[in-house]
Amino acid sequence: MSASIEIANVTKRYGTLSVLDDISLSIKPGEFVVFLGPSGCGKSTLLRMIAGLEDVTQGTIAVGDQRIDTLPPGKRGVAMVFQSYALYPHMTVAQNMSFGLENIKVPKKEIVRRVRFAAETLEIAHLLDRKPQKLSGGQRQRVAIGRAIVKEPKAFLFDEPLSNLDAALRGRTRLELAQLHTRLGSTMIFVTHDQVEAMTLADRIVVMHNRKIEQIGTPIAIYRRPATRFVAGFVGSPA
Ligand code: ADP
Ligand code: MG
Repeated sequence: MSASIEIANVTKRYGTLSVLDDISLSIKPGEFVVFLGPSGCGKSTLLRMIAGLEDVTQGTIAVGDQRIDTLPPGKRGVAMVFQSYALYPHMTVAQNMSFGLENIKVPKKEIVRRVRFAAETLEIAHLLDRKPQKLSGGQRQRVAIGRAIVKEPKAFLFDEPLSNLDAALRGRTRLELAQLHTRLGSTMIFVTHDQVEAMTLADRIVVMHNRKIEQIGTPIAIYRRPATRFVAGFVGSPA
């Protein structure tokens, strides 16, 4: 399942502090979009507004043909994968994945089917009975992604999911994320300040700076034809 995401004239203020100013962006169903920009430019805030973890000050957000910016997080049809994996230490891998579904009364058989599908997709079926503290960083990362997959969302939202991993694991996980996107065909938004991650993962990159979108384009277009001096400097500089 995948859906378009339409962000229209979205503004975010914390009190008098303006964080995002009049952001508009159309994401196609199944597209892999990366929000790229330096720390503090508002990437997480924009993602969290889509997820429903922050209010929108002005503007609207739609997933498919449904406006979602006034809905509670669980009703938006999107699933967020956090940077810190936020797994429950006292639950097994299987329980960590099924917990959210039990809460919304998904039938038991359906939960088992979805957990099995997610575990097989992520190649963690052999870990289902383990507790998180017995897992490596990379395995925990997969469980966190599995928790999103079982929700069968129309879009996945990733906030710097690779930044806690060492360099070798980061490269491997990046590749696996690309494969996951191919396999599921879902709409994905991925936040990072890392140009290499953006270049290798994105169908389109949204370069953010100073409360605004500086440029939206394919990795090649952004690399070859940066629209502003900022984009040229940020994308051109070595990672
Ligand atoms: P990024 O993810 O690109 O690093 P953030 O979206 O986390 O940036 O933050 C954007 C700006 O909003 C920063 O200046 C940050 O300090 C500010 N900010 C984020 N959350 C809050 C908050 N809850 N209250 C006040 N300011 C915040
Ligand atoms: Mg952030």
